[in-house]
Amino acid sequence: MNDQITAVAARNAELPDTLAPSSDQLKGTVCLVCGIDDAPEGQRIPVHHPDSSAVWACADEAAEACALTGHPWWQTEPCPHWCHGTHKAYDQPPDRLHFSRWESATPLSLQELDSCRVGDEYEHFVQFATVYLQQRLREAAPIVLLAFPGNVEGFELTVDEAQSVADGLLFAVGLATAQPNAPEN
Ligand SMILES: [Zn+2]
Ligand SMILES: [Zn+2]
Repeated sequence: MNDQITAVAARNAELPDTLAPSSDQLKGTVCLVCGIDDAPEGQRIPVHHPDSSAVWACADEAAEACALTGHPWWQTEPCPHWCHGTHKAYDQPPDRLHFSRWESATPLSLQELDSCRVGDEYEHFVQFATVYLQQRLREAAPIVLLAFPGNVEGFELTVDEAQSVADGLLFAVGLATAQPNAPEN
């Protein structure tokens, strides 16, 4: 997991060294990707650049422009170090979320299987408790998401609240696994 976090953090540099826009590209005279100067107004997708708000790319090259700058035009701050970072130029506002690359998924043996009929057959799925991080665009801190079967949207916890729930779980586990002759907590 640590290796993944290191890799993601390295990829979140503001701009890769290989991207050095020309003065025409910085002034917004020509496309950042292909260099044409006559794309129609609505087909010019803004590209975030720290030194100029005029940078753009042709609409069908927006994804490529994202790859060049490391993030899409609507994202003006770097991703948190834990984000998987696969944001796209055409993500709609509700999808503009940072998600952790890391996720914990625990199969729950005491939960009913999730069963559904597909044609003449039934398919059965084990249910999981999942934990991951999420942060909406322009919000200052991450939310810890805890999702259980029947609550796939998840419970949103602040980091402090998640710490408290985690402490409670660990305390319960400690009680359950303590040796009878060990002193009580
Ligand atoms: Zn272009
Ligand atoms: Zn992100």
